[in-house]
Amino acid sequence: MKVEMRKSLQDYNTFGLDVTAEQLIRVRSISELKKGIEKNDQPLFILGGGSNILFTKDIQGLVLKNEIKGIEVIKEFKHSVHLSIGGGENWHQLVLWTIKHNYGGIENLSLIPGTVGAAPIQNIGAYGVELQDVFVRLTAIDLKTGKSKTYFRKDCAFGYRDSIFKRALKGKVLISRVVLRLTKAPHKINTSYGAIRSTLDERGITNPTIKEVSDAVIAIRSSKLPDPAVLGNAGSFFKNPEVSASRFNKLKKQFPNIVAYPLENGQYKIPAGWLIEQCGWKGKRIGNTGSHAQQALVIVNYGGATGSEIKAHAERVIASVKEKFGIQLTSEVNIY
Ligand code: FAD
Ligand code: NAP
Repeated sequence: MKVEMRKSLQDYNTFGLDVTAEQLIRVRSISELKKGIEKNDQPLFILGGGSNILFTKDIQGLVLKNEIKGIEVIKEFKHSVHLSIGGGENWHQLVLWTIKHNYGGIENLSLIPGTVGAAPIQNIGAYGVELQDVFVRLTAIDLKTGKSKTYFRKDCAFGYRDSIFKRALKGKVLISRVVLRLTKAPHKINTSYGAIRSTLDERGITNPTIKEVSDAVIAIRSSKLPDPAVLGNAGSFFKNPEVSASRFNKLKKQFPNIVAYPLENGQYKIPAGWLIEQCGWKGKRIGNTGSHAQQALVIVNYGGATGSEIKAHAERVIASVKEKFGIQLTSEVNIY
C-alpha cells in the first residue's frame, strides 16, 4: 500500500480546489484500511468522490481515499433483490448497472456524483426519492479501533440530507459496504416531480420503464446543472429550509409569489434556490466565484477561486436571505 506524500487534491474535489493532503492512501479493501490506520497517530480524513466538500485549507494528516469496489447480488426474493456494494464504487455507475439488470428503486438518483459509501451520509436524494427508501444496512469501520459494525436503518437517523454519519459519527467511521433492496419488475415508478413528468410527456412516454425515468433525469440534470468537469461546483450548496405553517402564512402575505411544498409533518419546504434568486444572486459573479445562472442554489468556481472565496460568497448569500426573508440558510456541503 503506497503512501502518497504532499498529494494535490485538485482532481479529487469537484470544486477543483488546489489543496494538498499531507499524506494520502487509496483504500481498496478493509485489510488495507486496517493496515493504514493501525499505529496511526495522525488526524484521519475520509475522502470519497469529493463532490460534497469545500476545502478551505490543506489537509493535515492522512487522507483515506475510499476505493473499495464490488457489486454483488447477495439475496434474491420473488419481487426484490439485496445488492451489496463496495463503498468506493461510483454512485452513478451503480445506478446504470441496476438499470442494465432491471432492478428498480434508484433510477431517480441518476447522475448524482460521488461514491456509494458517501450516499448514506447525507441520505442522498433527488426527484422525490432518497437513499433511505432502498436502504437495508451498511458496514462501517471504526477509525480508532479498526472494528467493523453493522448499522441498520433504525441506527442511521436518516433525515432530509442528514444522518448520524453527518453528525455524531462524522469523521469517526468509514462506510465500507452498503446493502440496498431493489425491486424486480414490475417496478414502482416515481414521477411526482413535475420536471420528470413533463420530460416524459415531451417524449410521448406514458408508462415509463426505469431506464426511461433514468434517461429523463439525466437529460434534465445535464440541461440545468453545471458539469463539475467544466465548472467547479458541489451541487446544491444549501439545504432547502423548512418553516412552520404559521411562519409560511406570514411569508405568503409578504411575498405572495413565494414557492413552497407542504410536508407530511405540517411544515413547508421553501426552495432555497428561489429565496437566493429573489435576493438577486442568480447568475451573479464576484471574482472567481458566484451563484450559477441556471440554478442559484449552486455556487461555482469559475477557475482559480480559493475555498475561502467560495465560503465568503456563501456567507454573503446567507446574510442577504436572512435580511430579506428572516430565514437562516444552512450549508449542505461539508466545509473544512
Ligand atoms: P465526499 O464529498 O468525498 O465526502 C462527503 C463527506 O462524507 C465528507 O465529510 C467525507 O469525509 C465523508 N465521507 C465520504 N465517504 C465516506 C465514507 N465512505 N465513510 C465515511 N465518511 C465518508 N447530493 C444529493 O443528495 N442529491 C443530488 O441530487 C446531488 N446532486 C449533485 C450534483 C452535482 C453536480 C454535485 C457536484 C453534487 C451533487 N450532490 C447531490 C452532492 C454529492 O454528490 C453527494 O452528497 C455525494 O453523496 C457525495 O459523495 P462523495 O463520495 O463525493 O463524498
Ligand atoms: P427543482 O425541480 O427546480 O425544484 C426546486 C426545489 O423544489 C427542489 O429543491 C425540490 O426539493 C423542490 N421540489 C420541486 N418539486 C417538488 C415536488 N413535487 N415535491 C416536493 N418538492 C419539490 O430542483 P432542481 O434544482 O432541478 O433539482 C431537482 C432534484 O435534484 C431535487 O430533488 C434536488 O434536491 C436534486 N438535486 C440535488 C442537488 C444536491 O447537491 N443536493 C443538486 C442538484 C439537484 P428537494 O431538493 O427537497 O427535492
